[in-house]
Amino acid sequence: MFYLESQDLTNKKAIIRVDLNVPLDENNKVADTTRIEACTETVDKVIKLGGSCVLLSHLGRPKGKDNKLSLKQIVDTVSLVFKRPVMFHENCIGKEAEKVVSLLEPGQIILMENLRFYEEETKGDLEFAESLSKLGDVYINDAFGTCHREHASTAVIAKFFNGKKFAGKLLQKELEVINQIAEQGKKPVLTILGGAKVSSKLKILYNLIHKVDKIIIGGGMAYTFIRAKGGKTGNSLFEEELIENAKEILTIAEDSGKEIILPEDTIASTDFDNNERIKTFKTAKIEDGWMGLDIGKESIEKFNKAILSCNTVFWNGPMGVFEKEKFSLGTEAICKSLREAKSNGVNVIVGGGDSIAALKKLGNKDWVTYISTGGGALLESLEGKALPGVKALSNDY
Ligand code: AMP
Repeated sequence: MFYLESQDLTNKKAIIRVDLNVPLDENNKVADTTRIEACTETVDKVIKLGGSCVLLSHLGRPKGKDNKLSLKQIVDTVSLVFKRPVMFHENCIGKEAEKVVSLLEPGQIILMENLRFYEEETKGDLEFAESLSKLGDVYINDAFGTCHREHASTAVIAKFFNGKKFAGKLLQKELEVINQIAEQGKKPVLTILGGAKVSSKLKILYNLIHKVDKIIIGGGMAYTFIRAKGGKTGNSLFEEELIENAKEILTIAEDSGKEIILPEDTIASTDFDNNERIKTFKTAKIEDGWMGLDIGKESIEKFNKAILSCNTVFWNGPMGVFEKEKFSLGTEAICKSLREAKSNGVNVIVGGGDSIAALKKLGNKDWVTYISTGGGALLESLEGKALPGVKALSNDY
């Protein structure tokens, strides 16, 4: 296994690829420290094992050197969150950088400048990766959010660390959670998918239908499935070209004893922007001129029952246009059901920006068993793909 456990890192310099791609406010201050908090455990662990930390990260999408995206701006906040002093160096490769790093004492931490000031980073350039590799004795990847990219610092660099490369604590947790959702979670396992389109989650559906026991489909996605079953969905969002896929997924579910749970009723409006007229319909009987924008009471009840009958639940994507108060009740109801399930001992895992935003809106989200830090990386894992950043940690990479 390539997890960071009880390796002896005494006097070793650990290159840690972290994800410090934090949002900045208008004064270039860190607006949300979640990503910094997420890598604290690995930094603490390396120091406990006797090593020093060389942190590599990207910030934003600079085209060349761009002071507005310098990691220097966040170093004080990183230090506050880590509760440890953190040094900064204005480059991430080169003789000067190597010299500064060579002087690190055990327990010290240095953050190197934004990797993406070099276009070689995203190109996965081997020479650039080799230059990065000179900054340490071991390599640790803890940047789950970028593991789906084959970049110099997330994958290629690992070629230079055979036998000396590990997954950090955050990456380890994320991989364990994916395993619970898609392989070995306590049964019954339920996935709740929502959001606008089936197309962005089609591969996930094809993969998870073989792995989980039940899938709830809500949000705009649901109408393509309702149509595939012969329902009338009025002017609701749907993807004509995916009707056959939806039928196929429904058939796979039926043949393999899996359950696909669709909304019973829908709250609809005649106009997406001006929602004066609102009416509830059976989801399969929406009148022309009306578009479904949230799930109704019967759906909430049905979904609630399914959630409470499972032992592992993963949720990704809103049940309606939750950004608008009038269509946020379905998504809020999911949050409430999940909370109730969690208090009954259910393992509750949440991923995706919209779902996390909805949880936040309802207040404290600390009760959730695990909130994934990865967007694209999480979705690609759930499609069944092996992530380049994870593959790179095996010694035959
Ligand atoms: P996605 O990016 O595919 O996860 O979709 C998220 C978006 O889906 C959110 O901005 C929601 O407003 C939108 N959404 C959810 N339900 C519906 C719906 N019934 N009709 C149109 N948009 C929806």
